[in-house]
Amino acid sequence: MWVGLRPCSSQEGYKECGVGKIRGAQNNRKWIGEARCVKRNDLVEALADDLPPRTIRFGCQILSVKSDTITPFSILHLNDGSTVRAKVLIGCDGANSVVADFLELKPKKVFSSCAVRGYTNYPNGHGLPPELVRLIRGTTLSGTVPINDNLVFWFVVQKWNRKDAMVWNDPELIREMALEAIKGFPAQEIEMVNNCDLTSLSFTHLRYRAPWHIGGSAAMEDAVVLARCLARKMQANVNMYHDMKGVEEGIDEYVKERRMRLVQLSTQTYLLGSLVDNWSSIVRFMIILLLALLFRNPFGHNRYNVGRL
Ligand SMILES: Cc1cc2nc3c(=O)[nH]c(=O)nc-3n(C[C@H](O)[C@H](O)[C@H](O)COP(=O)(O)OP(=O)(O)OC[C@H]3O[C@@H](n4cnc5c(N)ncnc54)[C@H](O)[C@@H]3O)c2cc1C
Repeated sequence: MWVGLRPCSSQEGYKECGVGKIRGAQNNRKWIGEARCVKRNDLVEALADDLPPRTIRFGCQILSVKSDTITPFSILHLNDGSTVRAKVLIGCDGANSVVADFLELKPKKVFSSCAVRGYTNYPNGHGLPPELVRLIRGTTLSGTVPINDNLVFWFVVQKWNRKDAMVWNDPELIREMALEAIKGFPAQEIEMVNNCDLTSLSFTHLRYRAPWHIGGSAAMEDAVVLARCLARKMQANVNMYHDMKGVEEGIDEYVKERRMRLVQLSTQTYLLGSLVDNWSSIVRFMIILLLALLFRNPFGHNRYNVGRL
């Protein structure tokens, strides 16, 4: 996952993290921004390490959520047969969210694109600058960003084809499909995909829950703002756990603070996604025009300061 954030230090607990500029090439234009590549497991570990022991339960799946008929709490049914009565339930369970279904949010939609993601290890160093490089050619988008001196994260996004579903669980076939997609790309890109760590490969048909088209960076911003809004209410009201009104106010503040930021990010992501998605040159021209009008600096969103916890 790559995110636009301020530079980090080792004290912040990221074991492996790439920080650098963003370089994108499309129609000979070059854009500069800042990117950081974070290994998801390292981020989860760093966050979990700062919490009291057993705050997080790993390996525990929620099967369904129901409203309690007596209290304002939600009742979660887990796969081990147990239940949890949640005073506050925050749905951060991804694209197949049980919580989103419980809240009756709009059903998921699929993009007509799919993505292969992987790591390539260079035991003697990759020698690449600390930059996210994106290359767009036709309807194929490829991106690379170093995580440290030896490890590079890369992705290839291309049009979804029904027959691609066949390669789902086979890393060799996934690699072959990625190599086929980047035919004609620079030799370094091809070599990177060819020498990838097969166990790191994943293949995803891209989905979103309309109208949101946001990524992991926005999810992290959400977490910071939500925690801040709830914490403020907890400080203001020591009995918050008995006073659901405090929680509601905290969530209202969070929605107010996040609304415009998410509208902007979703619009930009939707337009960019549609650009990779669309074959028609008229539609593509219209999208490029809209992007130029609405988002003069394509990496302006990176300069957003979410504030402190
Ligand atoms: C191919 C691809 C490339 C991407 N690249 C980027 C990128 O470069 N930058 C970026 O910012 N974003 C990127 N994203 C988007 C980013 O991964 C998501 O937006 C982000 O992970 C969403 O965060 P989340 O916490 O909502 O869900 P997730 O990261 O999906 O986390 C959900 C968690 O909930 C758990 N879970 C799910 N269901 C249950 C259940 N029933 N019970 C208990 N636990 C459950 C899952 O195991 C998982 O740990 C990419 C997405 C894809 C598919």
